Formats: sequence, structure tokens, C-alpha cells
Amino acid sequence: MGKRQEFRANREGEFARVLAVNGLRMTQQRLEIVRELAAAQDHPDAETLLHRVRRRVPMLSPDTVYRTLEVLASHGLVARIPMPRANRFDPDLTPHHHFVCSRCGRVLDVGVDVLGPVPSAPAALEGIGQVDSVHLQIWGVCDACEEEGA
Ligand SMILES: [Zn+2]
Ligand SMILES: [Zn+2]
Repeated sequence: MGKRQEFRANREGEFARVLAVNGLRMTQQRLEIVRELAAAQDHPDAETLLHRVRRRVPMLSPDTVYRTLEVLASHGLVARIPMPRANRFDPDLTPHHHFVCSRCGRVLDVGVDVLGPVPSAPAALEGIGQVDSVHLQIWGVCDACEEEGA
């Protein structure tokens, strides 16, 4: 088991603990959603997660997936990546940036060693509004798409 997987396995327990502290029952359905997201390395959106978890939990409703993801995101347990079509979710909270492929929609991690640290922002920007989170998105065409087109 590599370092990354170890990190993700640890987070599964943390998800359960914080949900419980916040009065949310860790139902089997919720556990399956958390487990699937914790193992995901491709920044899935809610619909993608729904389809994956439904292989094990056929009766899972979209509403349960959306609500669980919103709770996890609002408690800072997963990162919400705002995207034009649907928010994507990231279980990896270590600071990093995202490269988004404008052709296939793939979201790839870019380390802070490559692009420098995630910029910090104050809680509020004067005359503009409150700050919830700071994201750096780099848009382009990924290597896989580039090779296909070549
Ligand atoms: Zn691509
Ligand atoms: Zn990421």
C-alpha cells in the first residue's frame, strides 16, 4: 500500500467521526458514498459517484449523494471544485492545484512544487464579498487528448 492510499484510508475514519459529531447518522448508504469518494483519484462529480455506488447500492437516490457531498464539503472534509457543468469533489485536502482539460473534462492534480503555493486570501475582500475558498484552475488540453489528436 502506497503513501497516497494510506492517507485516503485514514480519511475514511475521519469522515465517519466528523459526520457522527455533527449528528449525521453514518448509514450504510452514506458509508458507501464516503468510501467511494475517499478512493477516487479523478475528482468525480455527484452523478459519477452515484453511478459508481449504485453498483453496490442499487436503490441509492441522487438526493442522498448530493446531500452527503454538500455536508462533507461544508464541513471542509472534501474540497469542492467549482466547474461549469457540475461541481467536482476531491478527497485530497493537501494543498494542490487543478489542471482541467477543456476537451475531455479530466481534472488532474498539479503539485505546489510545480506551480507554487495556493494563493491565500483574507476572509473578506473589501467592497467585493466574503471568501469561502481559493482555487487555482489551469485550463488546457491534457496529454491523452493531445496524443489522440496528433
Ligand atoms: Zn483531455
Ligand atoms: Zn485534486
